[in-house]
Order: sequence, then structure tokens, then C-alpha cells
Amino acid sequence: MLTSIAGKSTIVTGGSKGIGKGIAKVFAAQGARIMIAARGEEAAKAAVAEIESAGGTAAYHLCDVADWDGVQGLIKATKDTYGSVDILCANAGIFPQIKMVDMSPEDWDGVMSTNLKSTFLCVKACIPEFEAQGKGRVVVTSSITGPVTGFPGWSHYGASKAGQLGFLKTAAMELSKYNTTINAVMPGNIYTEGLQDLGEDYLATMANSIPLKRLGAVEDIGNAALFFASDEAAYITGQQIVVDGGQILPE
Ligand code: NDP
Repeated sequence: MLTSIAGKSTIVTGGSKGIGKGIAKVFAAQGARIMIAARGEEAAKAAVAEIESAGGTAAYHLCDVADWDGVQGLIKATKDTYGSVDILCANAGIFPQIKMVDMSPEDWDGVMSTNLKSTFLCVKACIPEFEAQGKGRVVVTSSITGPVTGFPGWSHYGASKAGQLGFLKTAAMELSKYNTTINAVMPGNIYTEGLQDLGEDYLATMANSIPLKRLGAVEDIGNAALFFASDEAAYITGQQIVVDGGQILPE
């Protein structure tokens, strides 16, 4: 069992829903103190209640992770609540599906800002905290879509997710000065509330196309993130791991 994150102040952007909520729950179960960042209050409140009812510690802060002032407010709120920022899980993301022929420059910028610029902003805002503590951990939620595969309607999304991996190579070198590691998890098809609308038949077909014959659970991503955040992963930085049930393996 990884025990090194007990008590650690952990920001999970996008922690109110889906994969981020899964990461928050996995970390909270190991004793981390969670700060959820999201824009919508109802889901954030519900996620905090879910974690607390399982015996965990959590709070939320409402902000747009693509906004520098908002991100700085998130760091301040986390310090005010827990006294430090130990771990950043930069997970928030959007994935509107729009083919290039219909995509406006604003559509492109919106996805790049929320998914990629936000990663830079959140990491940058944490640097003074990691420097002050002489240690830090960053785990980025990327995707297989972009770095490995493509999907119609997701040219902007794929570029943002590949961009996160490009960002983390140099970030790892710069953050090493603060004894801080940064790594990424690349999920395949993960079952979240958002997928329920696709219907049981469609989801069963999707699951059947994956070698391990199921969609990923949000906890599968949480567990990989947990390893990167642990003391046991202290010598791993600038790396990424695919968590996809074997989906991208060749036939
Ligand atoms: P969800 O839509 O379920 O959750 C997204 C979360 O991000 C919500 O908490 C949302 O809260 C928050 N969020 C979105 N935009 C912003 C913003 N501008 N500022 C602050 N918070 C924001 O998505 P998933 O859980 O499916 O995806 C999470 C991450 O995982 C994304 O980065 C995605 O690219 C990645 N991923 C997901 C896969 C999947 O199969 N689900 C596969 C591969 C990667 P709110 O809307 O209230 O702000």
C-alpha cells in the first residue's frame, strides 16, 4: 500500500465530476486532504459530501482554470484551508466534438485554454508553494486521443492533450529545481456520468472492442495518479502512462 500521501494537501481540478472525482476519492481514501476546483457549485458540493461521508477530508473552490486570477485564487484558498499545496492533479478538461469544417477559431481557443493553458497556469501558480516546501508533485490528465490516436471532431482536443505531454517534458526539467516531479496519465475510454447518454448497447460495443473487455473506471485513473503522487515514485518525472485496458495495442 502507498502510504506517503496521507495528510497531503491535494488540488484536483475538475474534481467535481467524472475522472477528477475518481482521483479525489482515491486520494482521500489514502488520507490526502482534497481541494476540488470547478466552476459549478452543485456538483462540487456533492463531491465534497461524497468524500466526507466516506470519512475523507475535502473542500471546494469555484474558479475557471483557464483564468490566471482564478487559478491564483485557488492556490490561496487551498493554503488558507490546509496551510500548503503538496500535490496538484491538473485534470479539468472539456471535449466538445466539432469537425474542423464547422470549428471556429474561438472553438479552438476555448479548448486549448481550458485543457492546455490551464495546465501551465496551475503548475506555474504552484511553483512558489513547491519551492517553499522543497518538494512537490504534479499529475496531469492527458488522453490517448491526440498523443496516440485521433478521433473526428477532436482536432483541437487532441492537440491540447498532446500539448500537455510536450509541456511536461520541459516542465519536468524546470520543476526538478524544486524537487518536484510532473507526470501524466493517459486514459482510454473511461466510464463517467457523461457517457450514460450513449446507451447500453453502444457502451457494450465499446467495451467489447477493448482487450480487457470493459470501459475503464475512474478509480483506474485515480490509482495511476496516486502512484505518480506517492513518495515511491520520487525518481520518475517527465513521463506518461497509458491506462486504457489495452485499447491502443495493435491487433
Ligand atoms: P467531466 O466532464 O466528467 O468532468 C470535467 C470536470 O472539469 C468537471 O469537474 C468540470 O466542472 C471541470 N471543468 C471543466 N472546465 C473547467 C474550467 N474551465 N475550470 C474549472 N473546472 C472545469 O470530464 P471527464 O472526467 O471525462 O474528463 C476529465 C479529464 O480526463 C479531462 O482532461 C479529459 O480530457 C480527460 N480524459 C477523459 C476521458 C474519458 O473517457 N472520460 C478519456 C481521456 C481523457 P465544471 O463544469 O463545473 O467547471
